[in-house]
Amino acid sequence: MKDIHKQFVFYGQEARKWMRKCELLLPKIAKQKIWKKKRFGSIYEYAGKLAGMNRDKVNECLRVLNNIENKPELKKVAEEKGINSVKPVAVISTPETAEFWAEKAKNMPKNALEKYVQSYRLELLPRKAAVSVNLSPDLAKRFEQFKQRADFEELLEKFMDEVEDDKPEAVETDSRHIPAAIEKHVRRRSGDCCEYPDCGRKAEIFHHTARFATHKCHDPSKIYHLCEGHERLAHLGLIENEELGPRHWRLREKASPTETDRLVAKYRGRGG
Ligand SMILES: [Zn+2]
Repeated sequence: MKDIHKQFVFYGQEARKWMRKCELLLPKIAKQKIWKKKRFGSIYEYAGKLAGMNRDKVNECLRVLNNIENKPELKKVAEEKGINSVKPVAVISTPETAEFWAEKAKNMPKNALEKYVQSYRLELLPRKAAVSVNLSPDLAKRFEQFKQRADFEELLEKFMDEVEDDKPEAVETDSRHIPAAIEKHVRRRSGDCCEYPDCGRKAEIFHHTARFATHKCHDPSKIYHLCEGHERLAHLGLIENEELGPRHWRLREKASPTETDRLVAKYRGRGG
């Protein structure tokens, strides 16, 4: 009996080890559309048939790995301990704080880490933004209840990411004209308000965080609707982590414009 148990434990551990390797490959499979090249209908079908992963698992892996894409310290922990071990810190960490969070993710059990993150959010983060929305009375009642949940922010984020999944595909082209479907998507996301955190002024400019002149691509997840002031700040190279998106934006103390930005500045200087 002891032997059978031993074998079971061993095989179980090995199975998880190999599954982790599959999980870590998913972003590449998504990015290079390997599922399509291998004639599967979707990445879900690919991962389901080839590795027995369900849709939620695939979404979760992609979401977490996307959040830690520019945080090599956390990626390393994910490789060693699995995606679950970094999940609690994937959103709260930034490239600057990744090392701090990697150390926590590496050494703390998951439930302790979750609590730590929860308290950290409440106590140590400088501030939380309050939002007010107008909802129908019934929906407002449900929302009041929903926001009491411990995993409220995580669920809300998951929901918003899934809405994002409907976004149109990126278009590679020489034309600066943003395709209508992409513009519509960005407008829907921004509500025509500047997407710089806490700005909210009327948005006037569609800004490519991956500069169009260099990348020749209209990618809806790299186009943000900004007010004039924030668009200028971006081109002055004063926004840190610009390519990671607004959640990670913060002002730089020292400007670091790209080559394209220098050209834009020169052009504007001439044109007024
Ligand atoms: Zn703004």
